[in-house]
Amino acid sequence: MAALGPRQPVAGQPAPGTPYGRIAILGGSIAGLATALALARSGRPVEVIERDPPPAHPAADPFLAWPRRGVPQFRLPHGFSARARNLLAERAPDVLDRLRANGVGEINLFKHFIPPELWQPTDDAFTNIWARRPVLELALRMTAEAEPGIVFHCPAVATGLRFAPTPDGPPRVTGIELADGRFVEADLVLDCAGQRTPVPRWLAARGIDVPTDVQDCETVYYSRYYRFRPGCELPRMSVATLRGEFPLGSWIGFAGDDDTYAFALECHPGTPGVRELRHVARWEAAARAIPALAPWIDPGAGTPLDDVQVMAGNRNLRRHYLRDGRPAVVGLLPVGDALCSTNPAYGWGSAMALTYAFAAADAVVAHAPDLLALARAYDATSAAEADAVYREAAAMDRARSYRLTGRPVPEHDRAEMDRQDLIMAAMAGGVLHDVELGRAFNRRVNLVGPAAVVLGGDDLLDQARRAQAEATGPAANSPGATGPAANGSAANGPTANGAATNGPAGNGGRDEIAVEVGAEPAVAAGRDSARAG
Ligand SMILES: Cc1cc2nc3c(=O)[nH]c(=O)nc-3n(C[C@H](O)[C@H](O)[C@H](O)COP(=O)(O)OP(=O)(O)OC[C@H]3O[C@@H](n4cnc5c(N)ncnc54)[C@H](O)[C@@H]3O)c2cc1C
Repeated sequence: MAALGPRQPVAGQPAPGTPYGRIAILGGSIAGLATALALARSGRPVEVIERDPPPAHPAADPFLAWPRRGVPQFRLPHGFSARARNLLAERAPDVLDRLRANGVGEINLFKHFIPPELWQPTDDAFTNIWARRPVLELALRMTAEAEPGIVFHCPAVATGLRFAPTPDGPPRVTGIELADGRFVEADLVLDCAGQRTPVPRWLAARGIDVPTDVQDCETVYYSRYYRFRPGCELPRMSVATLRGEFPLGSWIGFAGDDDTYAFALECHPGTPGVRELRHVARWEAAARAIPALAPWIDPGAGTPLDDVQVMAGNRNLRRHYLRDGRPAVVGLLPVGDALCSTNPAYGWGSAMALTYAFAAADAVVAHAPDLLALARAYDATSAAEADAVYREAAAMDRARSYRLTGRPVPEHDRAEMDRQDLIMAAMAGGVLHDVELGRAFNRRVNLVGPAAVVLGGDDLLDQARRAQAEATGPAANSPGATGPAANGSAANGPTANGAATNGPAGNGGRDEIAVEVGAEPAVAAGRDSARAG
């Protein structure tokens, strides 16, 4: 295969490959684009290999006009957690500016729901972006396309890696082969090709094993987007707070940009009849039968943007490229969903993709061209984050699975399930009424803070025990408190598994929130000052 032709030197930037080493990024979606931006802006030119070109007409609605075969979840609803917004604000503020210029809103529902006299400056960290995924991705893509240090090979499909042996260590990746016969030489390849990245398969073919933890989410999503009709009087803010259960599973509302909103029906794939939900008529019939949802899908309220979007085969997945400090391969870093992905219902994927992207870029800046030090430094900053979100998402999924299937909790999982019950009880019982508990809950669902602390630590549980103690006296304050509330159905309701990131989050499964908001549209409108800029 031929090497790529001479690279174009970029004005004001070192040519690719000198003096930092050549860097190739496989995949130009959320992780790949953020990594590319961060590296290019720190003076490391990169080459991005991406199969899907940008939309032919960037001014058209990308939800409708951008064919994106490489991202199957492209048109499914996304709620972007506050961590995603905070990372963009810190590391790529012009992407946020581009979103704002396109009319995308930033909403802080926590501040919306509590009186201003209780606000603290740190509450600004709970601000979410309300955008459809294609709109957010297009902002990243257009920003990256305009960045001088980023060269796109697109459309281009990667078909393999090349390797060089190293005398005493793991094999070293030397570049990426493309379907059209070209070869992109690289000293470092960043695998940003998503959860279904072909890279582990290519490594396996070379006898390189990447240990992988996988737990099926046991969910299938059936979703549909709508746009508000002019004059629709439904309280727009409240769509992101709508969620609940229906006979086939649970359902959740999403707020989008440009007057759009969506609902996803989240079902266990084994439930009889769920496959029928892929048909518009069946989906609408199921949605219409849910009293809180029915008004939103009424033809008078909104116009559908598309047919039903389906996503099955969702998995929690964590790949381990380092064992005992030894990388399986050097010159290759997994970033984004290629490293770790979690049940989409929790709304953490994009924030974590950005987390890994900026961690990888920082490690490159600090350690390239020392590939071993680079692999270790990246692992040191990303592993604890990935382990925490994987562990928590998998545990929440098991809690839901035990509840839905009626399988008894095995002894080895008992302590974790008791912990999950306690978290659910805390959420169901108090996040709306206790501001500190609400803050702890928002840190959790929005990943505001180190993941190991906000998910695995005692942040929320400590607040829950304090709130319980205040409400019911010292007896309720024992670590093993598992009273009726902790074990009742509310404790394991959709709150446990709902994508709470785009709602006030403390109210999963509690439709009365929607009623509260719905009763106060003037308050919703009057709280615009609560939006962080
Ligand atoms: C149903 C569903 C709903 C979700 N909802 C949410 C949500 O509400 N909130 C949230 O934060 N996250 C959500 N996520 C997760 C989120 O979509 C992912 O975490 C995010 O897209 C990961 O970004 P990434 O760049 O790592 O990978 P991806 O977005 O998967 O991108 C991979 C890229 O690699 C390219 N590629 C792959 N192979 C090749 C190849 N051989 N050659 C060239 N290019 C290639 C693809 O074209 C694509 O551009 C959801 C996921 C699913 C499945």
